[in-house]
Amino acid sequence: MRRSPLAPDPVGAAEVGARPAWARALGRGLGRGRAAARRLLDGALPPRCPACGVVVGETGVLCAECWGALSFLEPPLCVQCGYPFELDFGEPVACGACLARAPAFDRARAVFAYDEASRSMLLDFKHGDRTDLAPALARWMARAGAELLADADLIAPVPLHPRRLWRRRYNQAALLAQALAGPAEVPLSVDLLQRRRNTPSQGRLSAKGRRRNVAGAFLVRPARRPTVSGKRILLIDDVMTTGATAEACAKALKRAGASGVDLLTLARVVRPTTAE
Ligand SMILES: [Zn+2]
Ligand SMILES: [Zn+2]
Repeated sequence: MRRSPLAPDPVGAAEVGARPAWARALGRGLGRGRAAARRLLDGALPPRCPACGVVVGETGVLCAECWGALSFLEPPLCVQCGYPFELDFGEPVACGACLARAPAFDRARAVFAYDEASRSMLLDFKHGDRTDLAPALARWMARAGAELLADADLIAPVPLHPRRLWRRRYNQAALLAQALAGPAEVPLSVDLLQRRRNTPSQGRLSAKGRRRNVAGAFLVRPARRPTVSGKRILLIDDVMTTGATAEACAKALKRAGASGVDLLTLARVVRPTTAE
C-alpha cells in the first residue's frame, strides 16, 4: 500500500466530514455551552500548550511561560542564513559564515532557536502525535518568513526517504508546507523533490561531514522539472541545523532551473557547536 506523504488520518477525516445528524442537532441545541459541546462531540481534548502540555485557551497557543522561554528569531538577521545579530548595522549584512562560504540557498529564516525550550515541541511534532499543531506552527512560519513567502512561486517540503516515511507515517516538513501554502495562496508541490539515498543520521557529523553526507541525495522528479524552471522555490523543513540538507535540495532545484531557492523552518540551531 502506498501511503500519502501527508498521511491523512482516514478515520479522523471521516469523522469530521460526517458528524451524525443527531450530533449536529444536539450541538445546535446546546446554546451557551456550544463550543464546549462541539469539542466534546468532535472527540477533541482541551487544547494544550505545544511545548509543555498545560491546558491553554486555544489550539496552538503557547502558555505564558513557554512563550517567554522560546528564543524567537527577530531582526537584525544575516540577510542570507538568518543568523540573529546582537547589533543592528542599519543595513542588510551577511554573517561571517555566509561571507566565508555562501550557502547554496539564497535566504533562510526560522521562527525560533533550536534549544531546550523548543526541542520537546519539535520532537512531539516530528515523532509524536501532535500533527494537529501544523496550522498553528505554519502561522508562526508565515510571520517569520513573510518576505520569503511574498517572493515564492512554489512551496515544497524537504522530502524524507520513503523508508523513513513508512516508519514515521508522515513527513513533518510536508505537513508544515501544506498548512503554509493554503492560507498564503502559494502553489504547493509535495513531491517536487525525491530523496534517492537514505542518508545516515546526521547527528554526530561536522558541518563539512553533513554536506558530504547529503551531497547528491536529492533529485527533482523528472516529471516536475517543467514546474521548477524559472521559479522561485520556498523549501520547508522543521529544523535547520547546519543547512547541509537544504543546500543539497537547493543545488538540485537550481540545476533543474529554479531562479531562486529560499528556506523556511520552524527552528534553527544558532550555535552549531552546541547542536544535539
Ligand atoms: Zn507551555
Ligand atoms: Zn549568515
